[in-house]
Amino acid sequence: MSGIDALNEQLSGLQDAAVKAFAAAADPAALEQLRVSYLGKKGALTEVLKGVGKLPPEDRPVIGQKVNAVKQALADAWQATSEKLESEAVSLRIEAERVDVTLAGRRRDSGAMHPVHKGLQEMTAIFSQMGFSIAEGPEIEDEFHNFDALNIPLEHPARAMHDTFFLNDMSNEKGEPMLLRTHTSPVQIRAMQRCMEDGEPPLAIVAPGRVYRCDYDVTHSPMFHQVEVFKVDRNVSLAHLKGVLQHFLSAYFEKDVPIRLRPHYFPFTEPSAEVDIGCVFCKGSGCRICKNSGWLEVLGSGMIHPNVLASVGIDAEEYSGFAFGLGVERLVMLKHGIPDLRLFFENDVRFLRRMGA
Ligand SMILES: [Zn+2]
Repeated sequence: MSGIDALNEQLSGLQDAAVKAFAAAADPAALEQLRVSYLGKKGALTEVLKGVGKLPPEDRPVIGQKVNAVKQALADAWQATSEKLESEAVSLRIEAERVDVTLAGRRRDSGAMHPVHKGLQEMTAIFSQMGFSIAEGPEIEDEFHNFDALNIPLEHPARAMHDTFFLNDMSNEKGEPMLLRTHTSPVQIRAMQRCMEDGEPPLAIVAPGRVYRCDYDVTHSPMFHQVEVFKVDRNVSLAHLKGVLQHFLSAYFEKDVPIRLRPHYFPFTEPSAEVDIGCVFCKGSGCRICKNSGWLEVLGSGMIHPNVLASVGIDAEEYSGFAFGLGVERLVMLKHGIPDLRLFFENDVRFLRRMGA
């Protein structure tokens, strides 16, 4: 076999082997490796071309054409495989990302308002509709606003009964101890002080918020919510108090509920009254929840004590007012028949769901 024939044969063999190998490449990396081994600077084709130099000059153009044809064939084979691999990769990606529209959707749980907060908003809204302005006060209070100004002097037993959380490392500008407010009544003092700075009563306020007492059982929690309601004006009487209570309680329980005022004692009101509603469970005939009395105690109320009005500089001869504070959790429990106050704060979603939260 002459030189040119041998070279031709080598080139044909190389072409066949390369085209087969390219076609069988499993992935782009393998294909690239094959390209280098056949077409690279130190590849198989370069090796074969070394023989061209040994051919007689007249044979060289002939073999040159053959070499170009082999190069073209290899380039085509490489191109075809490369495209095939690319389209396979795209198909795999599409398959992986395919959305099956017949599958059931993934449900996303929606959040909702906590039953206590919902109750707080409902109650505040009723008073707001009656013309009371909403006010808020700090949860960290001093003794003046939480006790002294509310006619609860230092030695008063009510002060001890409040089981106050004192803040050890905080004091006000006078160096007096600070505490977590035990009721929303300090907002009464703050609102009246603000009112007296730039005017005179009338003043009608609803003050919702958190309060704190060191207490924990089925009906007590160290943190709970109150709504404080009060009105100061000329000629405010017990009749106004009873009218507001009657309207509020019927609106909140969404039915006519009978109410009664029982004489009681609070330091910040005089006279004072506990307010009962006709039992919403047995409608007054007597049951376990109302201890067969037919009545449920819901809040404390009264006419604002003259000492409280005096503590903020309001003339008790000219003005009078009523005030009451209600426990939000207590009313929500009664409205929805919830037996244990602690359920509100244990974050058991089964309870919250049943409450429609
Ligand atoms: Zn009852």
